[in-house]
Amino acid sequence: MRNTMKQHYPPLVLFGYWLGPVLIVACHIGLVLPLMIGLSSGAWLWAFGLYWLRMLAITGIYHRLLTHRAYSAPAGVAWVGSIVAASAGQMGPNWWKGHHVNHHLYVEQDQDPHSATQGFWWAHSGWLLSKNFLPARLPSDLEQDAVLRTIDRLHFLPLLGLAGLSFAIGGLDYLGAFLLSTVLLFHGVAMVNSVCHAFGTVAFVTNDMSKNNWLVAILTLGEGWHNLHHALPWSARQGITLVNGEVKYLPDPTFWFIQLLQKLRLASQLRTPQTAQLLQATRLESPALKV
Ligand SMILES: [Zn+2]
Ligand SMILES: [Zn+2]
Repeated sequence: MRNTMKQHYPPLVLFGYWLGPVLIVACHIGLVLPLMIGLSSGAWLWAFGLYWLRMLAITGIYHRLLTHRAYSAPAGVAWVGSIVAASAGQMGPNWWKGHHVNHHLYVEQDQDPHSATQGFWWAHSGWLLSKNFLPARLPSDLEQDAVLRTIDRLHFLPLLGLAGLSFAIGGLDYLGAFLLSTVLLFHGVAMVNSVCHAFGTVAFVTNDMSKNNWLVAILTLGEGWHNLHHALPWSARQGITLVNGEVKYLPDPTFWFIQLLQKLRLASQLRTPQTAQLLQATRLESPALKV
């Protein structure tokens, strides 16, 4: 039976968590730096690389590995991937999973932390500045992993460390690139919650407003195929659809990354749907959806 007891947060944990939105707001304000000084070509490359690397850690590790268990991986992959994901400034793995599980379980109901029924901007980022910011419960599986728990509570250190590294490499030029990259990354991920519950196509029957959106799929390395994701959340591959009953694969770089991990023996037991499961997900009598 699902544990519905409210999570208790000690003051130090609360302080660490609240640093998250403070730092993201600070990154937005810090955008005046690259706007004032401009960026060199090297700094643009730095911003570009940091965007995709950290996006991949959020999609491939926080989302598909730790939250949905769409594949298995050694603990070291989860730990290193979580440090990289935390450097995106989007909180730690336990906080992240705590919210995302409830998004799937209660999608567009009161307990959905960023229900799209409350408006586009609420789903995009408004919810982060509300009482919904604290997860109702932290996931017990991740809480039992001392390393993940530590990364979660000290989630702000990788972000600050990356800011320091950027400055050490290229001064204000590279620090500006880091700030720009971090802000774009924040909005790229947020678009899955806002744009993908408002604009796009619907291929599968779900009890929500989830959509497949190609633009978000590009910006998020495959996470924009959100309608399929809500239909089959456990699938390691989100870029799949059906055209006239035929399976069609869509670009899904996060899945390609997971396949690469598999080749390197760093991932196994990839869960992907059979054609029959895809067909079933297009019908109204689709079974109860599972996270
Ligand atoms: Zn969603
Ligand atoms: Zn999900």
